[in-house]
Amino acid sequence: MMRLPRFLILGPPFLIRSFLIRSFLFTALLFAFIAPLTASRPASAQSGRRHLTMAEIEALPNSFPIVLRPPTSPTLRPIYTRMVELGEKFNPLNIGVLLSQVLYIESLRTPVIVEGCGAPGLHYARRQNHIRVCYELIPEVNQLLGKPRAKWFEIDSATRAFLMFAMLHEMAHALIKNLSIPVAGREEDAADHFALLFMTQVPDRELAHRIVRAPAAFFFRHSIEVEGPAGHDASDEHESSAQRAADVLCLLYGRHPDPTLAPQLNRTTAACIDFARRAAATWNARLAPHTRVDSGRMF
Ligand SMILES: [Zn+2]
Repeated sequence: MMRLPRFLILGPPFLIRSFLIRSFLFTALLFAFIAPLTASRPASAQSGRRHLTMAEIEALPNSFPIVLRPPTSPTLRPIYTRMVELGEKFNPLNIGVLLSQVLYIESLRTPVIVEGCGAPGLHYARRQNHIRVCYELIPEVNQLLGKPRAKWFEIDSATRAFLMFAMLHEMAHALIKNLSIPVAGREEDAADHFALLFMTQVPDRELAHRIVRAPAAFFFRHSIEVEGPAGHDASDEHESSAQRAADVLCLLYGRHPDPTLAPQLNRTTAACIDFARRAAATWNARLAPHTRVDSGRMF
């Protein structure tokens, strides 16, 4: 039986607070960014730069609209039903709404197509400029989050947190392509950093830790259960899952230092603070021409 580091165990407190997270996470992320958002780009400041009202922010078009296609497989049906139940506001696949509010991307349109594919999958299709999410991904995620078989088809707070991370990763690819953002180094790492910076942009350390625990646990288990026996596929553009799990924890520490996390890091605490600072500075520079955030800094 594999043992997860203590921090990564998704125990009862995480589940008890699932409702709270469901409604609070979007709001927390939204308010972290909305202080305040402007209507026009800095370049046109002279022509009347002003702050948006909440109603104007909510009326901005969603650049990542969700297309939920009912699956034909009866096994996948409960996932589809759950997504319909969650509604657009609480569906983690709909995190693009927040990106559409904090960035000047009204003209960008990257649909998120959710469908049964016959196998787990999630990717950004560059040529078609859409993100494809397979319903089959959910049981795989739940399994790797360590849930019992009876819960593989459920979408709880841990599933939501992981899906949010995965979606932000794919949306980073879409932003890089559509906004012609130059990336020195591996784009996969840049996409991971973007997702983690976004998810840790909350004032509350405990909340940040709860949110980021899911992707860390997922990569940790993936490194042992999938890559462990087979090894990391050298043709995979991503880092190994072990390295991705370590990077998640390191970046989390750098954003919200917590001494109890220190023994689980594979680098020094100072190195993690530096890692997070550099990741934030790099993404702030990439997004500076595109952000509505008044300070010009997203993170
Ligand atoms: Zn990627």
